[in-house]
Amino acid sequence: APAPSSAPAPAGTGSNDILAAYRINEQPYYRSVADEVELYEAAYLVRMPMMLKGPTGCGKTRFVEHMAWKLGKPLITVACNEDMTASDLVGRFLLDANGTRWQDGPLALAARHGAICYLDEIVEARQDTTVVIHPLTDARRILPLDKKGEVIHAHPDFQVVISYNPGYQSLMKDLKQSTKQRFGGLDFNYPEHEVEAEIVEHESGIGRDIAKKLVQIAERARNLKGHGLDEGISTRMLIYAASLIQRGVDPLAACRVALVRPITDDPDMRDALDSAVTTYL
Ligand code: ADP
Repeated sequence: APAPSSAPAPAGTGSNDILAAYRINEQPYYRSVADEVELYEAAYLVRMPMMLKGPTGCGKTRFVEHMAWKLGKPLITVACNEDMTASDLVGRFLLDANGTRWQDGPLALAARHGAICYLDEIVEARQDTTVVIHPLTDARRILPLDKKGEVIHAHPDFQVVISYNPGYQSLMKDLKQSTKQRFGGLDFNYPEHEVEAEIVEHESGIGRDIAKKLVQIAERARNLKGHGLDEGISTRMLIYAASLIQRGVDPLAACRVALVRPITDDPDMRDALDSAVTTYL
C-alpha cells in the first residue's frame, strides 16, 4: 500500500475517507496513443473488468493511475507474486491485545469501499489465488469472506483491472480461460518513436534530440527480441538513461548502466548493444 498521503480527502467523501490514502489528487501525466482513454471510460461505465496487455515498462501502470484520477476513484494496487495467497488479497484475522480482529485485504478493501483494484502482473500469482477474483468479475460482483462468514457485495464504484505481459506466457504460467473471459482487453506497446521521444522528454527533462537518439537505440534492441534478448529496452529504461544524462552523467556510461547491463549478461549481446549505443548517440 502506498504511504498515506498528507492531503485531506476531498469534502463530501464521507464513508470513503478510509480510502483517502489511495486517492490520486494530482493529474498523472499520460500521453494517450490511440483511443485507450475513451475505451477505458466506456468500460468503467459498465464496470467491465479490464486487462491491460503489453510488455513491462510501456505505460500500463501510468495509464491506470491516470484513469483513476480522471474518473475520480481511489486506486489500490497489488504487485502479484507466486507466494501470494488468497488471504493476502481477501484479508485475515489478526491477533491483537483484545483478541482477534479482521483486517480486509486490498481486494476486500476496494470492493467494500469502491476503489479500482489494480492487480499488477497477475500471471505471477498461483491459479488458486487468481480464482478469488471470479465472483467479483461476473454479474454477481460479490466477494465471499469464508473465514469471516461474510459476503461483500461490491460497492458500485468498484472495478478490477489486471495487467498481463503476453511475453511471459508459458504453459506453467498463464491465466485460465475462465479468468481471461471475464475481462475486456486493451493492448499496450512501446509507442511510435515521435510519441515515445515526447514521453522521454517530458519525464526526464532531456532535450528532444537526445530523447530521439535514445528511442533509436531502444528500437534497435527491440529488433533483437527473440534473437538473444528476452525483452527489449522499455520506455521506463529510456527515462532512466535520459535522467542520468540530464544530471550530467556521460551519455555512453548512462546508456550502459540504464539500457544495456540490466537486460543481458551475454558478452556478445552486450557488445552488440554497446555498439548500437555508440552508433546512435
Ligand atoms: P508498466 O506498468 O507497463 O510496466 P509503467 O506504466 O510503469 O509501465 O511505465 C513506465 C514509465 O514510462 C512510466 O513511469 C512513465 O514515466 C512512462 N510512460 C510510458 N508510457 C507512457 C505514456 N503513454 N504516457 C506517459 N508516460 C508513459
